[in-house]
Amino acid sequence: MSAAGQPLAHLRFSLMPDAVTHAISTRHGGASSGPFASLNLSAAVGDKPELVRHNRGVFVEGLGLRLEDTVALAQVHGCRVVQVSDKDKGRGVLDEAPPPERADAMITNAPGVPLLVLAADCVPLLFFDPRRRAVGAAHAGWRGAVSGVAPATVRALGQAFGSRPGDLLVGVGPAIGCCCYEVDEPVLAPLRAALPEEWEQVTQPARPGHCRLDLQETVRRQLVRAGVPAAQIQTLGLCTACHPEILYSERAEGRPSGRFGALIALS
Ligand SMILES: [Zn+2]
Repeated sequence: MSAAGQPLAHLRFSLMPDAVTHAISTRHGGASSGPFASLNLSAAVGDKPELVRHNRGVFVEGLGLRLEDTVALAQVHGCRVVQVSDKDKGRGVLDEAPPPERADAMITNAPGVPLLVLAADCVPLLFFDPRRRAVGAAHAGWRGAVSGVAPATVRALGQAFGSRPGDLLVGVGPAIGCCCYEVDEPVLAPLRAALPEEWEQVTQPARPGHCRLDLQETVRRQLVRAGVPAAQIQTLGLCTACHPEILYSERAEGRPSGRFGALIALS
């Protein structure tokens, strides 16, 4: 419940079963103000730490989970995946916990260890393997797409827990859409090199020297290529820049801007 007593409106993936708790926060229901209004979950964008801590509690505890059990990362737009367990509880979320790992994806098979990734325009990804009972959470901007953080998470689940790509359910959360994401050659060149088969299908021509990039579709195609059946991937298709009334968008709002969160936890 929010401070006003209203239930918080989270976004969810209909393909995720009740065996996992998951949600994507919106910007509503928190205590932050100004560009961070109101449920900003990032302590790295200039918001007051005590408000961020409060907001994280509103989101996580509103899902029936404990903030002190939750794990978050210092996201660096790479493709490193870290395996977390009970001993990491509170890491990256509580001040007194060990510093967060510098990485963009994490996996666990420990029940009661919620994984939290933050985003404004990058793509938040939630993974669930109902057979091996493992979960993952990742964050992919264009650099993460180029470096392959989504397929890296699929591989890491396999290596750590024996997860098969064909068993995975993956939710592709809100991110800046093709409608609003114009990129130029410094982005297009590495994208072409990393995704020679996909890049034309995930871009649309724009003004000279520019293309519009569909990040959610890029990541979805990477997941399919990594072996996840298309029918087991749900893309919300929601553009952050088109919906500042619901979500944060650094591109649309400028800096500073808040971050919403995507969370998944095994029961
Ligand atoms: Zn848009």
